[in-house]
Amino acid sequence: MARYRESVCRLCRREGAKLFLKGDRCYSDKCAVERRPYPPGQHGSRRIKHSDYGVQLREKQKARRIYGVMEGQFRNYFKMADRQKGVTGENLIILLERRLDNTVFRLGFAGSRADARQLVRHGHVLVNGKKVNIPSFLMKPGDQIDIREKSRNSIRIQEALVSAERKSTPAWLELEAPKFRGHFKSYPAREEVAMPVNEQLIVELYSK
Ligand code: SF4
Repeated sequence: MARYRESVCRLCRREGAKLFLKGDRCYSDKCAVERRPYPPGQHGSRRIKHSDYGVQLREKQKARRIYGVMEGQFRNYFKMADRQKGVTGENLIILLERRLDNTVFRLGFAGSRADARQLVRHGHVLVNGKKVNIPSFLMKPGDQIDIREKSRNSIRIQEALVSAERKSTPAWLELEAPKFRGHFKSYPAREEVAMPVNEQLIVELYSK
C-alpha cells in the first residue's frame, strides 16, 4: 500500500489546520501550523483563492489525512455511507470513527492515529479476546478492546495513557485504564465527534 513518507506537519500546513497527527507535539508550541501558518513550499506564503471545487477537494483531503486513509479506501467509505440510511456525510464520519485504529487512538492507548495503526498492525490489540491486526476493522456496539497482556508494559502505551488522562474519553467509548481495556458502547452521533471537517463539502465533491 502506498504511504506518505514526508513530514506530516506539511499536511497540516497544506490544509491550514491542526490535524493532530503527531501526538503530544501537536499540543506544544513546537506545532508547525502555529510557527508557520501558511502552506509549505516556495510559494506557500502567497494567498491562494480556491474555486468551489478546490474548497471541496481540500475538505476531503483534510478528512482523509486526519484518519490516515488512502484515496481508494476513502471513496469506498463514501460509497458505503451513501448506501446507508440517513445523512451520507454523517454516515461517512461515523464509519471513519468506527475504525479500530481510530478507536485505539480515541481510547488513549496511542498518541496519534498513526501510532494506533502500528499497534494494531503489530498485533498488540485484541477485540473481544481475539487478535485483530487490521486497522480498518469496523467496531460495533458491545465490542471490547484489550491491549494484549504481553504488551501492557510497553512504555509507549503507558505514556500514551498518561497523556490521555488530560483528555476526556468520547461519549461512545468507555476506558478502563488500569485493565488496559476499552468498550465501544454505541455508534457515535455526529455531534459527539469533535472533528473540524465539513462533510457536506465532501458529499458535494463525490456527487459531481
Ligand atoms: Fe499538525 Fe501536530 Fe505537526 Fe502541529 S505538530 S503541524 S498539529 S502534526
